[in-house]
Amino acid sequence: MKALVYHGPNDVQIDDKPRPTIQDQEDVILRVTSTAFCGSDLHLYHGTVQGMEPGQTLGHEFMGVVEEVGPAVKEVKVGDKVVIPFNINCGRCWYCRHELWSQCDRSNPKGELGGSFGYTQILGGYDGGQAEYVRVPFANTVATLEVPENIKSDEQVLFLSDIFPTGYFGADMANVQPGDDVAIFGAGPVGYFATMSSFLRGAARVFSIDHWPTRLNKTKDLGAEIINFDNEDPVERIKKETNGKGAKCIDAVGYEAVGHVGNSTGGNGKNGNSNNNSGHDHSKVSKPAYEPPNPLQVINWISQAARKYSTISIPGVYGSAYDQFPLRQLFNRELQIKMGQCPVKKYNEQLLHLIEVGRIDPTKIISHTMELDEAPDAYDIFDKKEDATKIIFKL
Ligand code: NAD
Ligand code: ZN
Repeated sequence: MKALVYHGPNDVQIDDKPRPTIQDQEDVILRVTSTAFCGSDLHLYHGTVQGMEPGQTLGHEFMGVVEEVGPAVKEVKVGDKVVIPFNINCGRCWYCRHELWSQCDRSNPKGELGGSFGYTQILGGYDGGQAEYVRVPFANTVATLEVPENIKSDEQVLFLSDIFPTGYFGADMANVQPGDDVAIFGAGPVGYFATMSSFLRGAARVFSIDHWPTRLNKTKDLGAEIINFDNEDPVERIKKETNGKGAKCIDAVGYEAVGHVGNSTGGNGKNGNSNNNSGHDHSKVSKPAYEPPNPLQVINWISQAARKYSTISIPGVYGSAYDQFPLRQLFNRELQIKMGQCPVKKYNEQLLHLIEVGRIDPTKIISHTMELDEAPDAYDIFDKKEDATKIIFKL
């Protein structure tokens, strides 16, 4: 079968791999019908994530039709169409029983963190869904989001695998309440769904911060007030618009943040991936293939722009190799931080209902629909960000 395989930094290829087989009683084999890729895949693509080994199939946003079931699979049957959450959950450990789905204790034989599809040995070494077929373990828990009959296209529900729940998780962690002003850093797919979700929860105003006009136009269409950080200082603008109070802040960027023009601590990120040395002491960790230009840019902005006593929400991914933390500001301003992997199953059924009844149309974020064969080019297109807001592959 065809699979998009990681070969090394900036090198992904379509390989011919054997079709996966049932290995455990609770496995299903899924024939993938649609898959997308994610800003999180770009971290892998850039070679910035530890534990990524050549040979792993990428992809954690996918859906498809159940082709084969293991003997203990009771919750799904051959022929069912399902959307798969990116986290792998056993359904029986302490974390799963408490619905902390992203921290399953049994899904990752290789370590403490919960398992994920297509995301390094550290998260279990599972092959991902940018392939014709994928093995889905613990299917009685993982493969239960069945696509209702009145959903006519994969595009309507594909993002329930990750970015819609993750955007909602961002708004939930920030505790967005009716009447709140919210600042969302990053207008990529996660920022887009965090904007949508903040309005769903009753936000009065959403400020969307990025520097790509195509992406900002998408969040503007949702009703956000946009701030291009190449043209103005987002902290000053947020403070001005909120009469000095600040906003509830969501970081939908993560450690591959870029700084704004004229900022002495970073480049603008539009000239490719410059190997800027941020001056951190990384001598104790293995050197990543590429060091992001300004990993704490967003955290620094948020530490100034957040409403005092609010909770900072960080769905954007951070990695320990780049940590350097503005503790003074956070302490003085009595901020709380919530962050981590989205527990997709906590939200996906409710969000599906919003789509089902026509309240939400997640398809508007899609800029490109491509063939899996074109996936290596798609990584380049998505990486440049300029024209691409979300790329999906139809199989
Ligand atoms: P993306 O790369 O498509 O988008 C990131 C956006 O941030 C880009 O548009 C970029 O221009 C913008 N940006 C860069 N520096 C910025 C800055 N200083 N201020 C404001 N915007 C800036 O990625 P995505 O798919 O939207 O994902 C966003 C983040 O969320 C990534 O780190 C991804 O790994 C993470 N993520 C986390 C989870 C989770 O479960 N927590 C799930 C999915 C994605
Ligand atoms: Zn993702």
